[in-house]
Amino acid sequence: MEKRIKGTTRLLGLIGSPVAHSGSPAMYNYCFEKLAYDYAYLAFDVSRENLPQMMETANLLNFRGMNVTMPLKQDVMKYMDVLTPAAKLIGACNTLVNEDGTWTGNNTDGVGYVRNLKDHDIEVRGKKMVILGAGGAGTAVSVQCALEGAGEISIFNPMDDFFEKAKTTAQNIKKEVPGCKIEVFDLMDSETLERKLAAADILANTTKVGMAPLVDESPIQDTSLFRKDLVVTDIIYNPRETRLLKLAKANGCKTIGGTGMLVMQGAEAFQLYTGDQMPVEEVKTRFFND
Ligand code: NAD
Repeated sequence: MEKRIKGTTRLLGLIGSPVAHSGSPAMYNYCFEKLAYDYAYLAFDVSRENLPQMMETANLLNFRGMNVTMPLKQDVMKYMDVLTPAAKLIGACNTLVNEDGTWTGNNTDGVGYVRNLKDHDIEVRGKKMVILGAGGAGTAVSVQCALEGAGEISIFNPMDDFFEKAKTTAQNIKKEVPGCKIEVFDLMDSETLERKLAAADILANTTKVGMAPLVDESPIQDTSLFRKDLVVTDIIYNPRETRLLKLAKANGCKTIGGTGMLVMQGAEAFQLYTGDQMPVEEVKTRFFND
């Protein structure tokens, strides 16, 4: 590392709180070194109150870019000169790129989901999808799948605070991507869920059901809904194989877990910072035991 840091080295970082647990510095610094980029990456614990100073500092120190985590993904938007269509529709940014003082706000979560599917030879273009959940990650998945040409998206969410947000997102997607049929339903509406799943190509779980403390639960319990030609995906990466995926696999479905999405959204950010491909396979084995 000491040989790598020079007078010309540009800084990048993760901002949000907490960040101490993050694996991003190790992953990005490894890739910068491997591909000989004159960049260094650190994690900065930044609260909402401190964001104005952070943005001022990032400008002063000519940061190349930043990844953004909770609770800053919405707050950073007002500092951006340009927002990508996905970031605008999602209403949140997780990757900020500084090009000669012009900041662009991107959201790579949904791209990560779609790239992970492509990695498993699944295309979303023209497909019918059932998406469970409409939180931060679920919104990103719905938006990106619509932008990538999904034919029909049925979002199912409990009647909690995320439900109304999902309706607004669906309206906005309809305006931007009129070719995509998008509807929002109550997750408890089992009749509609059954009907939509019977016609779907891809099921995506973006709810928290399946991660701790809900590791023994599945958002779909009726195993008769798992047809062999339904691709079942879960964006939860811990555990690597959720109860939903176990049930779907046991019933003959192709299943895809969330680790690949995590890696691919990082790969997308790496590409935005450098214009280069991240060494994805190496990163998977070295940093994700995949
Ligand atoms: P969030 O809090 O923004 O949204 C949570 C979602 O889960 C909402 O739709 C909510 O209605 C739903 N939900 C919560 N409890 C539920 C329950 N008991 N039954 C049914 N639905 C319930 O969270 P988020 O940031 O969108 O994260 C959601 C999941 O996605 C987490 O497990 C997170 O680890 C995972 N995630 C994965 C990646 C990745 O790269 N693989 C990226 C981001 C998030």
